[in-house]
Amino acid sequence: MKISVNPFNGKKIYEFKELNSNNLQSRVKLADETFNSWRKTTFEERSRLMNNAAKELKNNKERYGAIITNEMGKPLSQAIVEIEKCAWVCEYYAANAAEQLKEEPIETDADLSYVRYEPIGVVLAVMPWNYPFWQVFRFAAPNLMAGNVGVLKHASNVMMSAQMIQEVFENAGFPKGCFQNLIIGSEKIEVLLENELIRAVTLTGSKPAGSSVASTAGQHIKKSVLELGGNNALVVFEDADIEKTLEVCVKARFQNTGQSCIAGKRLLLQQSIAKEFVQKYKDKVEALTCGNPLDKDTYIGVMAREDLAEELEKQVSDSVKMGARVLLGGKREGCFFEPTILTKVDEAMPVFKEETFGPVIGITTFENEVDAVNLVNNSEFGLGVSIFTVDRKRVNRLIPQFYEGAVFVNELVKSDPRLPFGGVKTSGYGRELSSHGIRELVNKKTVYIT
Ligand code: NAP
Repeated sequence: MKISVNPFNGKKIYEFKELNSNNLQSRVKLADETFNSWRKTTFEERSRLMNNAAKELKNNKERYGAIITNEMGKPLSQAIVEIEKCAWVCEYYAANAAEQLKEEPIETDADLSYVRYEPIGVVLAVMPWNYPFWQVFRFAAPNLMAGNVGVLKHASNVMMSAQMIQEVFENAGFPKGCFQNLIIGSEKIEVLLENELIRAVTLTGSKPAGSSVASTAGQHIKKSVLELGGNNALVVFEDADIEKTLEVCVKARFQNTGQSCIAGKRLLLQQSIAKEFVQKYKDKVEALTCGNPLDKDTYIGVMAREDLAEELEKQVSDSVKMGARVLLGGKREGCFFEPTILTKVDEAMPVFKEETFGPVIGITTFENEVDAVNLVNNSEFGLGVSIFTVDRKRVNRLIPQFYEGAVFVNELVKSDPRLPFGGVKTSGYGRELSSHGIRELVNKKTVYIT
C-alpha cells in the first residue's frame, strides 16, 4: 500500500493499492505495444497532443497545484508556478522536437551519409517528490516527442501527483500506454529492468538510489541517466551588486522550502563584505513568511516528511557541535523547520560537506579568488555554482575552473527547457532538457550509402 499523508497536518490523503507482479508485467507489455504504433506517428501529431497536455495543465493549475501542496507541503503559489513550468516544457518540445531530431547529414566518402535519431522504446523513469510534476514532465515531454513511451515509478509519498500526471496525458489524448504510472515500491525496479521490453532508465534522486538503479541497469546493458544530489555554492565577491545578490541568494536557498537539488546550499562570502552581507541576509530571511502552505502568502511551508526534517536537524546540530554558530532559526517542530542561517562554517562540517535538503544555509568566508574556487570544488557533487560579480574578466577567468554541470553568473542555478541540465561527479551523468536532453535516450543511427 502507498499512502499519501499531508505533512502539514499529518492527515492521510489517500491509500493506493500496489500493482501485483502480473499487472506490472502487463502494463509493460501495453507500453511496448503502444510504442510500436506511437513510434510511427508524425511530429505534427505528437506536437498536437503535447500542446493539449500544456493546455490541460494551464487550465487546471490550481487543482494540480493544490495536490502537490497537500502531498508534499510546497507553498501553493510555488506549486502553481511548477505546473506552469510543466506546460512550458510541453510547449517547448512540441515546437522544437522535429528540428532537434531531424536527420543530420555528415560528409564522408559515401554518396550519402547521415545520422537518424530514432526512438528506443519503453523508458522507465524513477522520480523524486520535491518537484513532483516538474521532474516527471522534464523526462516525459522530450521522450514522448522523440517517439519513446514512458512508465513512471514515482516517489512513494507523491502517488496522487503521479496519478494526476497520467490523467494529464490521457486527457490530452495520448494513447493509453504512452505514459503509465506504476504504483510500486522501489524493490520492484530490479524486476522491471530485467524485462527486455524496458530499454533504458532515467532516475532523479539521491546517490544511493542512483547507484543501485544504475548498477542493475548496467547488468542488463541498459542505458541510464542520473540526476542526483547537489551542494551548490553561492559565491559573492566584493564587487557584486549587493542588493540584487541578496534577493537572488535568499531565493536560491529558500524557495521550495530548501528542498531542491540545485539550491544554493553553501554561501561563500568574500571577507571584506561578509559582515554587512550577513546582517542584510539575516534581515531578509527573517522576513520570509512561514505557515500553512495553502495560504497564498506563505513562502516557507513544511518539509515533505518528518524523517527528512530530523535528518536536517542532525546535520545542523552536528555542525554546531563542531563550532558553527546559529545566527537564525535552527529549530524543528514536526515537519516544520525554521529558516536557518549558520555562520563560522568550515569545510569539515556536515552543512558544508553534505547535501542539506531543507531551509538551512551555511556561511563560509574566503579571502581571494583562489580560495573561492577551492571551496566551490571541495565537494563530492558538481551540479552547479552561482557567482556574483560585475567583473567580466573575473567571470571569464573563473568559468573554466569550476568542476560543475553549470555556472550561473549573477543568477541562481535554475532549469530552463532551452538549456541542458545535469551534473558531474556524484551529481550524476547525462543531460536533460534542450536538444541534448531529447537526444539522450534515442538511437543515433548511422546511415552510409554508396
Ligand atoms: P530518493 O530517496 O533517492 O528517491 C528518489 C526515487 O528513487 C524515488 O522514486 C524512490 O522511491 C526511489 N528510490 C529510493 N531508494 C531507492 C533504491 N535504493 N533503489 C531504487 N530506487 C530507490 O530521493 P528523494 O528523497 O525523493 O529526493 C531527494 C534527492 O533527489 C536529493 O538528493 C536531491 O538532490 C535529488 N534530486 C536531484 C535532482 C536533479 O535534477 N539532479 C532533482 C531533484 C532531486 P521511494 O520513494 O519509493 O523510496
